[in-house]
Amino acid sequence: MRIAFFGGSFDPPHCGHLAIARAAIEHMALDRVLFAPVGTQPLKRELQPAGFADRLAMVQLAVAGDPRLDVSMLDAPRADGQSNYTLRTLHELRQALAPEDELFCLVGADSFLTLKQWHGAEDLLFACDFVVAGRPGFLLNNLAAALPEGVRVSGTPKLLAPGCLSVLLENPSRRRSHLFVLPDLKEDISATEIRQAILVGVEGGPCDEHSVLPAAVITYIRTHGLYRGSGEESRP
Ligand code: ATP
Repeated sequence: MRIAFFGGSFDPPHCGHLAIARAAIEHMALDRVLFAPVGTQPLKRELQPAGFADRLAMVQLAVAGDPRLDVSMLDAPRADGQSNYTLRTLHELRQALAPEDELFCLVGADSFLTLKQWHGAEDLLFACDFVVAGRPGFLLNNLAAALPEGVRVSGTPKLLAPGCLSVLLENPSRRRSHLFVLPDLKEDISATEIRQAILVGVEGGPCDEHSVLPAAVITYIRTHGLYRGSGEESRP
């Protein structure tokens, strides 16, 4: 099986997340994408408006009905209270898979461009192949500049399909992995803007929740009164 790990806050999960997962399935011939809501994101420790249980429930609702999309508890809050590190999570997932399974890590362009700040960034890039989805406003032209020191692009990137590139990465010890760049889906949606729109009650604006959230997620947010101001403190 060809499986992609897709970690994130999903606070809330939106149509942009679903769109990039489905684009990755199509372009990379994946069998499955595992949506893994993160317990504590090291780079967003103070910024988690909804608790893990709500984010998990919303992701379950968002992916329901598409058998290629699954929810994973791999990045659930840790018993020791530590942050969830993608490197550790990918190692755990690799061990749980069959040897013949192929593992990918799916990330949006904005996340990939912060890679140098991630725990064990160099090892992370060689833990599996990466799939990067373009995101409006984030230029992937200087992808090479986002690579941790010691990792370089080897050879010339290959065009797999219009807008879809395969880049070979290498370090001095000859460790190698592939970086696949998907075309920009122009899904100009962000969870931050959705939370803001709900907070100020924007309906029909540029970030109208009806056009950017799955219907079941809207119902969940309404039923549980999420993002309306009272629960905006950090809750892992
Ligand atoms: P926030 O605005 O709270 O940062 P987000 O949707 O950007 O929310 P996450 O929920 O952590 O953040 O996103 C999970 C992954 O999905 C990340 O890798 C992010 O880059 C990617 N992603 C989110 N929205 C888009 C989008 N519209 N286009 C491409 N990638 C996206």
